[in-house]
Amino acid sequence: MDKIQMVDLYTQYVKIKDEVDQAVFSVLESSAFINGPEVKLFSEELSKYLGGSYVIPCANGTDAIQIALMALELQRGDEILVPNFTYAATAEVIALLGLSPVFVDVEPGSFNINIEDLKRKITNNTKAIIPVHLYGQCAEMESVLQIANEHQLFVVEDTAQSLGAKYRFLNGTSSYAGTLGDFGITSFFPSKNLGCYGDGGALITNKEELAIKARMIANHGQKKKYYHDIIGCNSRLDSIQAAILRVKLKYLDQYTKARQKAAEIYDYALKDIPALRIPSRVTFSDHVFNQYTIQIQNGSENSLNRDQIKSKLAEYGIPSMIYYPLPLHLQKAFRKPDQEENAFPVSQALTHSVLSLPIHPEITLSQQEFIIDKLCLTVK
Ligand SMILES: *Cc1c(COP(=O)(O)O)cnc(C)c1O
Repeated sequence: MDKIQMVDLYTQYVKIKDEVDQAVFSVLESSAFINGPEVKLFSEELSKYLGGSYVIPCANGTDAIQIALMALELQRGDEILVPNFTYAATAEVIALLGLSPVFVDVEPGSFNINIEDLKRKITNNTKAIIPVHLYGQCAEMESVLQIANEHQLFVVEDTAQSLGAKYRFLNGTSSYAGTLGDFGITSFFPSKNLGCYGDGGALITNKEELAIKARMIANHGQKKKYYHDIIGCNSRLDSIQAAILRVKLKYLDQYTKARQKAAEIYDYALKDIPALRIPSRVTFSDHVFNQYTIQIQNGSENSLNRDQIKSKLAEYGIPSMIYYPLPLHLQKAFRKPDQEENAFPVSQALTHSVLSLPIHPEITLSQQEFIIDKLCLTVK
C-alpha cells in the first residue's frame, strides 16, 4: 500500500501526465506566459461548465474575494457578514479593505452559516454576505438570497472548497455553487477540487457590468492599456496554470464522483460508531467532499479526545487535519478588545471536535480500509 496522504497530487499527475506535459510545453513553445490564449480558453470552458456565467480568472482565491468586494464598491465601515468558522482568507480581505467583518455562527451538522444568527447580525450598516460553502457542500442559499433581497445586501459566495457542487432550489431548479449570488469566487490552489500546480483563482458572475468591472480591477483598473479608470490591482492567472486547468476541468466530474464514492465508504464504516459523527448531508446541495470531516465527541473519561486520536492515527502513518483549530473571533488578527469569549458556541465546539480524514480522487480502497480499521481501534 502506498503512503497515505491528505491529497495525492503526484498520483493524479501521473494519470494525466501526457496531456498535462503537452499543455505545459505548448505554452513554453508559444512563450505567451501572461494572458496567453490558454487563459481566455480556460475561462470560456469553465463558464460553459457552470452554465454560462462570466468567469474572470485571477491570481488566487483570496484576491478573487478582494476584487469582488472592490467591484461592489463597498465603503469603509460597511459591515460584511461572514461565518466565524472558515478559512481566514474570507474575512481577511474584508478587513484589508477597511470594511468590517461581522461574524456569524454556523450549523453543527453542515458546518455552514446559521440563518437565524445571520438575521440577528444585520444592522443598518450591513452591505453584504459572504456565505462559505465549506468542505464541499453549499450553505443554505435559498434563505441567504431571500434575506439579501429583503435587506438589499450583496452576496459573494466563497466556493473555494465546493466547485462543481450543484444547489437545488425549492422550485426544482438547480445551479452550480458560485453562480447564485452577485459574485462567486473560487480557488485553484492544488488541493482544491479543481487545482492547478501553483496558485490560481477566479470570480464568477452572471452580471455583465460586474464582470467588466472585476476584469478591470484585476488588471490595474484599465480597460485600455495605460488608461486607468479606477484603482485596481495586479491579479492574473498564469498561462501555464490555465493550460493545466483546461486539462483538469475535463476530469472534474470524474474526480468529484471518486470523492463521493470514498465518502460513502467512510460513511458506511463509521456511521454506527457512537463516539463519531459522520458529515451530514443537506437536501438542497450536492457534497463534493473537498474534505471528509468527522466530529469526535469527547465521551467518557477513558475514551481518547480528538487530539489524542489524531496523534494515534499519525503513529500509524495516517495523516489527518484540523480545519480549523481556532474560530475567527478568537484569532489575534480579528479579536476585538471587548470580544465575548463564548459568543459563537457552535463554532467553538467544532474547533475542538472536527477532524478531516484523507480524501481525494486517488485514494484506494485498501488505504481507506486501513484508515477505518485504525480509527475504529483508536476510538473504541
Ligand atoms: C482556499 C480557500 C480560500 C483562498 O484561496 P487561495 O487561492 O488560497 O487564496 C478562501 N476561502 C476558502 C474557504 C478556502 O478554502
